[in-house]
Amino acid sequence: MYRAKRAHRSYEIYNETGDTSTSRKIPVTHFLYRGIKRKELFLEYQPKINLNSRETIGAEVLVRWNIPELGLVMPSDFVPIAERSSLIEDVTYATIEMTVDQLLEWRNNGQVIPLALNISARMLDNKKLAVWLINKIKTHNIDPRSITLEITETTLASSNKLVYQILHELDEAGFKLSIDDFGSGFTSFISIRNVAISEIKIDQLFISKIQTDSKDAAIVRSMLVLAESLEMQVVAEGVETQHQWDILQILGCEYAQGFGIARSMAASSLVNWIETFRGNSKQ
Ligand code: C2E
Ligand code: MG
Ligand code: MG
Repeated sequence: MYRAKRAHRSYEIYNETGDTSTSRKIPVTHFLYRGIKRKELFLEYQPKINLNSRETIGAEVLVRWNIPELGLVMPSDFVPIAERSSLIEDVTYATIEMTVDQLLEWRNNGQVIPLALNISARMLDNKKLAVWLINKIKTHNIDPRSITLEITETTLASSNKLVYQILHELDEAGFKLSIDDFGSGFTSFISIRNVAISEIKIDQLFISKIQTDSKDAAIVRSMLVLAESLEMQVVAEGVETQHQWDILQILGCEYAQGFGIARSMAASSLVNWIETFRGNSKQ
């Protein structure tokens, strides 16, 4: 309770020894296994917009977990732990199932909102996920271009040939590939060149100081040049202020996501949000 209070949140994962590593793993793993079965995971959607036209180009799917005894748990408190065991498979498949259901619901209502899914590196060390995904979209006749797979830089930094082969197959099948948190890891230019990446998302670290640190602005500018020459779309992550929006526009960045635009929301709120946001003129 004291730790939760200090962190200004409503919950803290139980941890007998106070150590934050292995002992945390036991209760989370136990509760998560149960939680997936009891359908305690749910999705929120954060819009990705065009800074110039205010059009929404899609939304990122962000998983949340509602434990009846504890309340809302954010992914940073359970995804890294799930990634250390096969539980990440259960989390990933549950998330994709819910995403596909949402795409189908919107389709039935005549709405098309492309969605981006976060895929953990571990899910790409064998072909199971790719095969399953390709089957899934065929079964439901879903356009694969309405699904972007966001993978972190660390996935690409690995020299594992199989990962490249899997990404190539997903690209061939029509999925869009995006590099998440770009700039925070160690992606080499060769690894970017080797895979058909359609989008990079500039890590929020660079955006948060873009108005005060000229080095960060220079780094963002160089990422934009790199992306343009490789024909990739660039999304700035973590845009919180109008000032950051303005600077990004001046630098020529077209797309963004962040609390200053919208926080993640329920699917039922997204369609209205898109209409209202497009209609509002720039403040
Ligand atoms: P991410 O993919 O980089 O997602 C962006 C995170 O930044 C989200 O946190 C989002 O709420 C937050 N964010 C967005 N705009 C702003 C902003 O303006 N300021 C600040 N300070 N933060 C902002 P969230 O939802 O807590 O997700 C954290 C991470 O958890 C994600 O980072 C992603 O790596 C992982 N994650 C989320 N959902 C899934 C999932 O379904 N599967 C997997 N494997 N990982 C997931
Ligand atoms: Mg992401
Ligand atoms: Mg990110």
